[in-house]
Formats: sequence, structure tokens, C-alpha cells
Amino acid sequence: MKITDHIKKANGETLFSFEIVPPVKGKSIQELYNNIDPLMEFKPPFIDVTTSREEYIYKEKDGLLDKKLIRTRPGTLGICASLKHKYDVDTVPHVLCGGFTKEETEYLLVDCQYLEIENVMALRGDARKEEKYFTPTKGGHQYATELVEQIQNINKGNYLHETFESSELTSFCIGVAGYPEKHMEAPSLQSDLKRLKEKVDLGADYVVTQMFFDNKKFFAFVEAAREMGIDVPIIPGIKPIAVKKHLHLLPQVFRVDIPQELIEAVEACKDNKEVRKVGVEWAIQQSKELREAGVPVLHYYSMGKSDNIMDIARELF
Ligand SMILES: Cc1cc2nc3c(=O)[nH]c(=O)nc-3n(C[C@H](O)[C@H](O)[C@H](O)COP(=O)(O)OP(=O)(O)OC[C@H]3O[C@@H](n4cnc5c(N)ncnc54)[C@H](O)[C@@H]3O)c2cc1C
Repeated sequence: MKITDHIKKANGETLFSFEIVPPVKGKSIQELYNNIDPLMEFKPPFIDVTTSREEYIYKEKDGLLDKKLIRTRPGTLGICASLKHKYDVDTVPHVLCGGFTKEETEYLLVDCQYLEIENVMALRGDARKEEKYFTPTKGGHQYATELVEQIQNINKGNYLHETFESSELTSFCIGVAGYPEKHMEAPSLQSDLKRLKEKVDLGADYVVTQMFFDNKKFFAFVEAAREMGIDVPIIPGIKPIAVKKHLHLLPQVFRVDIPQELIEAVEACKDNKEVRKVGVEWAIQQSKELREAGVPVLHYYSMGKSDNIMDIARELF
């Protein structure tokens, strides 16, 4: 079922969902199941599975450094199929511009069709670790707008090199990213919102936001988006702080602000066990306020371990 239909069916009730990251290559999927199993009690209508782009590693060979391009966390679509089958839940693979040619994207979308995966999250992806700025893959897309366009073209039967007017058309429901504190490369929040509007005008069906720790930023973002004519559901993404180093890491990687009150609470913790509790408590308060404001879904970034998401879900769902 489409995410937008799940939202309609909920009739104003806030849904619970979460995002997972595929295991590192070589590890079994069992650990992932162990983390997801307890969360299924809260009946998420959908689970997102991230995609990691390729990266370079250097291996010593005959005294020289050999540069190799690898993917450390492959298997997004396989995991989506496996979770769908095991838990009877909708899964949302993240589809990236970076690291994929348009042909590879088309191939992936055809696989989604055969696996009856009806939702995809269309993202540009970040620059590779060794790059300062994002550079598009040869034969791939530069911006998420182009990816949304490709998916919508396929929905109309217009593949890259062929057109089919059959009754077997796909009908992918497309999610895109939104940034309450603006995307790190955008010159302003207003300009970033205009780019978001372009994604919606091209056919994106819903928006999932980057994590944020101050609900005021989310509410202002939604208001500005509505004023601009963005009328699709906007789903807040929530990340509970789990370790002390998140205070520096999360702003550095995701360019988000952390409220002073939360910083002080985390700094006062003796160890990371206490930090985890503070993070859960903050996320619960954030979630309660967001639910009262009528958000369609509360979407949690689990990043591997699910015990803290479990504590939050127990309080709310
Ligand atoms: C909910 C969510 C899930 C994510 N999942 C993943 C994942 O699984 N894997 C992963 O690698 N990353 C993921 N990301 C991170 C995302 O890939 C990065 O934030 C990336 O840098 C931007 O992606 P985007 O789709 O927002 O890009 P875009 O919408 O293409 O925007 C990128 C930047 O370009 C600007 N821009 C857009 N169009 C134009 C234009 N025509 N001209 C000039 N500027 C333009 C925008 O303002 C923005 O600054 C996720 C992010 C979110 C919020």
C-alpha cells in the first residue's frame, strides 16, 4: 500500500514508522531481525531502508596503495523484500542519484515492481567521503528532482529507451527529503524550500524531514512550505541522542542545531547509559508535541539499535 494511503486510512491518527540501515557486508541479517522484532508490536505500516553509496578504500599491494571502490552496506532491496515477506509490512527502499546510472536506477525500479514495492524515497545522496562537493555519477542524475522525474516517467510507461502503454504501469508513491534547518549546501531556507517545491511539482507524494531537536523549527518549516504551496504530507524524522559524542557529530554531519537545554542535560550525564535515557526522554517530549500538532507519522532514525526507539514507542503507541 502507498504511504499516502496509509496516512489517509489512519484518518488523522499519527502513525509510527522507522528507518533502518543495512548491515555491514559480511554480517548476517539476523541481527537486523533481532532489532526489528520488538518494534513490530507497535504496528509500523512501513519501514525505510537506507542506501549507502560507494566509497574508496586503499589496500596495500606490493608496497603500493591500491585504490578500490567498494560498497560496505549493500543489499537495500534484498532487505526490503525480506522484511516485507517476514513481517507483512510495506518497505521503502532509498533510491540515490549518487553512485547509480539512470539505467541502474531503472533496473532497480523494475525489481521494485516485481517485488510489489510501491513506495520509494528519491534522494540525491551525499558527496563521497573524499569529495568536498557532490559530483554526479557518469550517466546518473545531479539532483533529486531528476530522479523524481525518472520515476514519474516510468509510472507513465516512459522508460529510458522505450515507451509502453500497457495496463501494467507502475504507480510508485515517491517520498523526498526536506530540511527544517535547510540543506547544508542551500544558500537559504527559502531557496531550499523552492527546490523542495520543484520536487513536489514533479510528482513527489510526501516529504520526510531531516532530524531536528527543536519542534519550533519543524513547525516554522511546515508553515513556510504550506505558504509556498507544498501541500503533500510532511513527516517529521526524529533521532534520539544516544551517546555523548552525538553533541558534536550530529551538527557536523547533518548541520542541525541542538538546543542548549538538551546539551546541558547530555553534558551532565555520567555515562552513555544516562545519555541514552536523556535522548529518549527528549524524543518522547518532542513526539508528544508533534502528535498533538497532528503530524501524520512519527518517523524514527534507528541507526542499528532499537532499544531506545522501543522505549519511545512504548510511551506513545
Ligand atoms: C529522510 C532522509 C533520508 C535520507 N536517506 C539517505 C540514504 O538512504 N542514503 C544517503 O546517502 N543519503 C540519505 N539522506 C541524505 C541526503 O542524500 C543528503 O542530505 C543529500 O545531500 C541531499 O539529498 P536531497 O535528496 O535532499 O537532494 P536535492 O533535493 O537534490 O538537494 C540537494 C541540494 O541541491 C539544491 N538543489 C536542488 N535542486 C537544485 C537545482 N536545480 N539547482 C541548484 N541547486 C539545487 C538543494 O537546495 C540542496 O541544497 C537522507 C536524507 C533525509 C532527510
